[in-house]
Amino acid sequence: MGDGLAKTIDKKRADEFAREALAWLAARTISPIPQNFELVYTYVANENFELRAAVDTLLASGCVFESSVMTTLYERYIRSPSDGVAVADIGDKVHQELDIVLQMLESAGRDQNSYGHTLTAVSGQLGDAPMSEKAAKVLIDKVVVATRGMEARTKLLERQLQASSHEISDLRDRLESVRHEALTDGLTGIPNRKAFDIGLSAAVERAHELGEPLCLMMVDIDHFKKVNDAWGHQTGDQVLRLVGNCLSENVKGRDTAARYGGEEFAVILPQTDLTGAFSVADQIRKKVESKKLVKKSSGDILGVITVSAGVALYRPGEPLEEFVSRADTCLYDAKAKGRNRVIGETELNTASVVAA
Ligand code: GH3
Ligand code: MG
Ligand code: MG
Repeated sequence: MGDGLAKTIDKKRADEFAREALAWLAARTISPIPQNFELVYTYVANENFELRAAVDTLLASGCVFESSVMTTLYERYIRSPSDGVAVADIGDKVHQELDIVLQMLESAGRDQNSYGHTLTAVSGQLGDAPMSEKAAKVLIDKVVVATRGMEARTKLLERQLQASSHEISDLRDRLESVRHEALTDGLTGIPNRKAFDIGLSAAVERAHELGEPLCLMMVDIDHFKKVNDAWGHQTGDQVLRLVGNCLSENVKGRDTAARYGGEEFAVILPQTDLTGAFSVADQIRKKVESKKLVKKSSGDILGVITVSAGVALYRPGEPLEEFVSRADTCLYDAKAKGRNRVIGETELNTASVVAA
């Protein structure tokens, strides 16, 4: 057979499939947008076994093929959605998956009922008086056919459920990583400003409710501009990571150390009074000061990095901004008094603790 003839036959078949696909869509009043057309064309052309099985199962269950179902089928069997989907999209997709699972389970329930009815009917007839060999064979064939059908549908359902369950757990993982990314600072890997805002309002609510003390520490790198100017931005970034590590390594489980912005960090300290918060801050300050900063590219020792910190105690009922601003005032005071020190509210305008 020449190439030309093969092409003519292919085109003829393609026309038939296209017409069939359009008729399929029209019969269900589904809009023939390109995505729907491609999906149904693939189905009628029998080009994708898994898709064929999924659509047949849905058809058997009386599915009305809403647009969400069409989209899910398209994404699963024709083309996966691009990565980086928004959280809301993931939520929608989980719903779509669950809709499909529910429809499949309903259809399985109906299958089981009709299988049950067949068996009951057969067993009823078996109970009747003597039966010819031929009649018995007819009954047995009935049971065999019903059982094979049930077995095939159960296997298909199992495969479909497995696919849905993978899809859902994959979506759950993606949701978790999108959430984690949205709350993590890309440079230091510690919680970001958004995570801080969420954490602080939760901590304030809890402190208010339980009458527990809550402290906030604001930390700022001393003369950071000079670090950038003298050693370059990459070294500056390395310093930010070092300070971020010192913070997260020196706070306990319920505390939250976050990058507040630029070269400023914040630590939320629930169930902690001023004395406790002060000592955590001073421990962090000493830890940073003790680190030897080595330039990665040359191995040169670059000198010492120091931080200043301010610590405030939450006053029940006060607005969040006021709480943050009081801790900030203490931090500015630590800068004004010479840096590399911690100022708590009680020390404000009185004494200050100077680096040892
Ligand atoms: P002070 O002791 O008073 O805090 O002085 P400072 O130099 O640390 O403070 P200043 O606010 O004058 O400068 C902060 C610098 O931090 C300026 C800005 O370029 C730098 N900076 C902010 N974010 C980043 C960052 O992500 N990477 C780097 N390398 N530098 C940053
Ligand atoms: Mg600074
Ligand atoms: Mg600053």
